[in-house]
Amino acid sequence: MLDPSRPFGCDFSFVSHAHIDHLHNANGKKKAKTRVLASKETALIAQVRGYDMQNASEDQDGFELVDTGHILGSRGLLIGDDIYYTGDISTRERAFMKPGRLPHAATLIIESTFGRPEYVFPALSEVTHRTNKIISEMYDLGIPVILMGYSLGKAQLLTKLFGHWDPLYIYDSVARMNAVYADLGVELKSAMAHSEAEELGLLSKSKPWVMVAPLMQSRSNFVREMKDRHGAVTIGFTGWAVGRGYKYMTGLDYVMPLSDHCDYNELVDAVRQCRPEKVYTIHGFAAEFASTLRAMGFDAEPLGKSSNTRNTERSLDSFT
Ligand SMILES: [Zn+2]
Ligand SMILES: [Zn+2]
Repeated sequence: MLDPSRPFGCDFSFVSHAHIDHLHNANGKKKAKTRVLASKETALIAQVRGYDMQNASEDQDGFELVDTGHILGSRGLLIGDDIYYTGDISTRERAFMKPGRLPHAATLIIESTFGRPEYVFPALSEVTHRTNKIISEMYDLGIPVILMGYSLGKAQLLTKLFGHWDPLYIYDSVARMNAVYADLGVELKSAMAHSEAEELGLLSKSKPWVMVAPLMQSRSNFVREMKDRHGAVTIGFTGWAVGRGYKYMTGLDYVMPLSDHCDYNELVDAVRQCRPEKVYTIHGFAAEFASTLRAMGFDAEPLGKSSNTRNTERSLDSFT
């Protein structure tokens, strides 16, 4: 089973990465008799998040785990030489993240979160440039800035990309994930956790500052507090920022298109690189992307109910 939510009745269950929409509790009360395939990074991160992954292994005859460049430890699964399942994938280099690799396979099961032509992301350098410009303008005015992205993966990229700003504070749940990344060899600037900074009164005293925090809506208690007490400005980082509705929906001050998924063009390139005879699309715009691929001459069809998965993935990717 591939990223199963209930790994029962199978010999192997594959966990592509440690985002909670891809995790299950293999050894919960009801023990599943399944062998778990996952990278050692995924197993470690998942354990820190409270999932039991002690029996996970990355070496098993007949399977190859392939780097997908989505978050630290994310892998796709090559089954024999003929089926490749991507899990979540990004083929774009981002700071310490290397591009995901696409092996050749007769059957490709590919995620299609951003499988619509309007979802094309600008270069990373453009996003960092625009963000640094905003922070610099705010610093001139003494205004703190909160950089937001989901706490596993995106927040570590934000810490790396904007760690040169000082002082830098890290939201507690992000700090925990930063520590795991550091344990796994990713060098991130060590910075004070936000609760400690708050207790010491540093957030009021040392304005302006930059904080890396999980994605939250502007009406969340935390953002309201940061705005009321410290006049902070918020910048959200997600691929959904390409759509006009996202900024309005979240109420954030700025949104930046920075994603850990392929954009539309990268998805099409990924399919071409794999040279599959059959393509299945899953997550996001699965039906739309499959029909685009058919128009390009591929034999493609969506898996699952795309309209439902779209909303799930969207809310999970935005706010976990
Ligand atoms: Zn993911
Ligand atoms: Zn996902």
